[in-house]
Formats: sequence, C-alpha cells, structure tokens
Amino acid sequence: MGRAFAYVILGGGVAAGYAALELVRHRNGVSPGELCIISDEAVAPYERPALSKGYLLPRGAARLPAFHTCVGANDELLTEQWYKEHGIELVLATRVISADLRRKTLLTDTGETISYKTLIVATGARALKLEEFGVGGSHAANVCYLRNLEDADKMVGVMRSCHGGSAVVIGGGYIGMECAAALVAHEIKVTMVFPGKHCMDRLFTPKIAEFYEKYYTAKGVAFIKGTAVTSLEVSDGKVTEAILRDGRRLPCDMVVVGIGARANTGLFDGQLATEKRGGIKVDARMRASDAAVYAVGDVAAFPVALFGGDLRRFEHVDCARRTARRAASAILQDPAASNGDNAKEEGFDYLPFFYSRVFALSWQFYGDNAAGDAVIHFGDFSPGPAAPRFGACWVGAGGRVGGVFLEGGTREQSESAASAVRRGATVAELAGELERRGLTFAVDP
Ligand code: FAD
Ligand code: NDP
Repeated sequence: MGRAFAYVILGGGVAAGYAALELVRHRNGVSPGELCIISDEAVAPYERPALSKGYLLPRGAARLPAFHTCVGANDELLTEQWYKEHGIELVLATRVISADLRRKTLLTDTGETISYKTLIVATGARALKLEEFGVGGSHAANVCYLRNLEDADKMVGVMRSCHGGSAVVIGGGYIGMECAAALVAHEIKVTMVFPGKHCMDRLFTPKIAEFYEKYYTAKGVAFIKGTAVTSLEVSDGKVTEAILRDGRRLPCDMVVVGIGARANTGLFDGQLATEKRGGIKVDARMRASDAAVYAVGDVAAFPVALFGGDLRRFEHVDCARRTARRAASAILQDPAASNGDNAKEEGFDYLPFFYSRVFALSWQFYGDNAAGDAVIHFGDFSPGPAAPRFGACWVGAGGRVGGVFLEGGTREQSESAASAVRRGATVAELAGELERRGLTFAVDP
C-alpha cells in the first residue's frame, strides 16, 4: 500500500509546525492534498519548550491544545482541526523506519510506503541514554528523561508520587537546570550531579554559573560537580540510590536524566552529506546534498552568514522556527528567501538566539560564545535582588561584540544586544546603548 504527496515533512515537532504554516500561507501556497506530515508522536506539532516549563508546574500547568505550534511565535494555534481544514494529512503515531532517496519513498512502521516530490527532514534530536555511558537503569519506573509529551507525562506522574522526597538530577545542562527548578516547585529535594566544573559549562562563564548555582542553592538544590553517576541501584523496578564514581551513594526517590542529545539522522546514513558533529549538511536555503531534500531544525547544519558561512547546527527552538520557514519559502521559490545570488557563499542570515526561564529568572543569549578573546561581565551578580539584572559580552577581534548574555533584560535591552551582535558593534557602542536603556557597565580601557 502507498500514498503519494508533493511535499512530505518527516517529523512532527516544532520545525514541522512552522514549515506547514509557511507552506500554507505562502503566496504560492500548497493546495489541499499536497502536504503530509509523518510523526511518531501521537499529537500534532507543539512547542517543545513548554514541556520543561509550563507543563511541569504543580498548579496551572500548560496542557494541549494550548501550546501547539505556532503560539510560541505569537502566531496561529495549529490544532489537528487546522490541518484538516487545510487538507494536510497528519500521519501520527507512525514511525518512518527507512528512507530511499533514490526512489523518493519512505517506509513506515505500519508497512505503508509514502512517496514525495520534495522531502523536508525535521526529525529533531533524541535524548542520550545512560546506557550509552555504561550506566544501566533507564527503564526504571522512577527514571525520567524529557524529550516528548510521553516523557513529560511520566515525569509529572513520578513527581506527584515523590512530593516531599528527593531526586537526583544527572546532567547540568538545559534539561538538568530546568527540571531541577520544576522539582523544587513540587517540593522535592534536588541533588544535581555532572562532570563539568560548573553548570551549563558550554555557554555560561564561571561567573555566570556561580550566580545560578548560588540561586539554586538558596532554593535547596545541592550540586555535586566534577564527577559522574556510575551506576543506579534498582529495587522492585525503582531506583533507590545513585552511586558516584568515588563510591558515594545518594539515596533518592526519583532520577531525572539530561545528558545531551543527538540529531536523528540515522535514516539518511550514506544517502545525504553530513557534518562532522552529526547534522545533515544543507545550503543557505536548507537544501541537502540531494536536491529534493531539505533539512530543518535540530538536524540541520547550515552555513551562517554572520560567521562567514561557517556550518553550524543549533538545538534551539528559534532556529527550528526560522530554518523551517526558510526551507518552506525556498521550496516554493520565494525570491526573498534566496538572500540574493551570494546566498550560497555567505549563508543564511541568522542570528543565533537561545533562552531559558527558571524560577523567577529569565536569560537570553545572542550570537556566539566561542569566538570571543575576552568576556566582559556587567550588572549586579549578587544573589540578593528579587529581579537580578546582569550580563556578559564576548569580545572578538577589533573589540567587536560576538555574543551577549542578559539575565533579566528588558525587551529594549535584548533588542540592543541582538542588534549589537548583528552589526558587529564595538563593546563601547553596546555599553552606550544599554546605558541609555538603563543597564550600566564600565568597559576597561
Ligand atoms: P523536534 O521538535 O524534536 O521534532 C522532531 C519530531 O520528529 C518529533 O516529533 C519526533 O518524534 C519526530 N521523529 C523523529 N524521527 C522520526 C521518525 N523516524 N519517524 C517519525 N517521526 C520521527 N529550545 C530553546 O531555544 N528554548 C527552550 O526553552 C527550549 N526548551 C526545551 C525543552 C525541552 C524539554 C526540550 C526537549 C527541548 C527544548 N528546546 C528549547 C529545544 C527545542 O525544543 C528544539 O530545538 C526544537 O524542538 C527542535 O525542533 P525540531 O522540529 O527540529 O525537532
Ligand atoms: P546539554 O548538552 O545541554 O547538557 C548535557 C549535560 O549533561 C552537560 O552538563 C554535560 O556535561 C552533562 N553530561 C554529559 N555526559 C554526562 C554523564 N555521563 N553524566 C552526567 N552528566 C553528563 O543537554 P540536555 O540533555 O540538557 O538537553 C538536551 C537537548 O534539549 C539539547 O538539545 C538542548 O538544547 C535542548 N533543550 C534546550 C533548552 C533551552 O534552550 N532552554 C531547554 C531544554 C532542553 P558537560 O557539558 O561537562 O559534558
């Protein structure tokens, strides 16, 4: 059995929702019956960031349909009804198990072959498992990962059953930090364990991390850094203790694991060019090495104009939204999407943007934290103020701002930060602008 579509989006996450909206809205928009989305999740595309924030709240938690795409960009809410009304085939709870790019077909786990003229790969990333680091116990009833709705439902159930108990959080990255905040809200005592010197060590400077660790400590969170959990003690299907490399044993009622993610590119091994860190290599229009295939979101490694066309891959929602829209308009041949004739050389005009919200805190980051020769911190880093305001900027060649981090920044301050990175402003110019907008910092001569 089989069906044929002009356009198939493989994956039903953030990028899929934004691509579908763009394909429908475009002036050359798709017609009913032309577009199909295949997802192994049971629900229509939703804003994944909600899973580690509103979804985990003990009271007033966010639930679908409220956070389907594209509400995260203050745009239309695409419910299942919306897809129906636009003649878009939503093939849910169905996994694609193989792809034949030569024949332009996808085989699903229900035995169906779906063919396409143009394929948009939006398969996202998967959570790394403890077993990949030689630790067993992932399947225990009280061990939680957080990648999709099913994981989030499990975590909500486990948290409810652990009220007043204790949790070990393995990993000090995004999932670790955001889930620790949720666990505290559920009155669960948290110990975070990770191998780095400080939390979020791929983005935060030691000084930024020190602020968040002190803030978390004041909320009752304990940090065990520079080590790893080497095994989990399981009894009656539940973890009772986490055992560290040095033999220490941490009794616990539940475990949350956030030890990184890997792009889901396996279906295309040997069929599409990939980048060394695991993404599907695409051009500035998100087109892969096969001209009928586009890749967007977490799986796509694309040339970034701001970084001189360097290939980058981002596992962040803003990138998923923008690359999805970009691919959709390129597919429907919008001249505005081509970036002019130099698009291929210079890359996609994209400013990397990451953010997180935990407790009463909210930070944003624009640009690149790798290129800087020096980092200048500014604002008040003391843990006291109810609404802390501070930041850092990464300074590159010629004193130009390569990246800016802001905690508690206003909308105007964030706009200044983004604009400074985009236009390659000097630190002195950024300092002047932020000062006019109420955030002062001194630049060393
Ligand atoms: P995804 O949204 O992961 O979607 C991929 C889809 O493809 C999924 O539905 C998956 O099930 C499906 N799929 C994969 N393989 C197959 C297959 N073979 N067959 C069928 N379907 C398949 N970013 C931020 O910037 N800010 C945040 O606050 C933030 N919070 C986050 C919170 C959580 C809990 C998580 C997990 C991520 C968060 N992110 C955040 C990252 C952001 O959500 C991702 O970058 C974004 O979802 C990527 O979109 P995507 O469409 O590429 O992938
Ligand atoms: P991250 O890569 O952010 O963090 C992984 C963490 O796990 C790091 O602290 C890492 O330490 C640590 N780690 C690695 N191996 C081990 C190990 N064996 N034992 C203990 N700790 C280990 O991944 P997450 O899992 O936090 O996030 C998964 C995905 O979800 C990412 O794509 C992320 O971008 C996305 N996400 C984004 C959010 C946002 O943007 N606000 C929010 C939630 C998720 P080290 O760095 O020292 O290797």
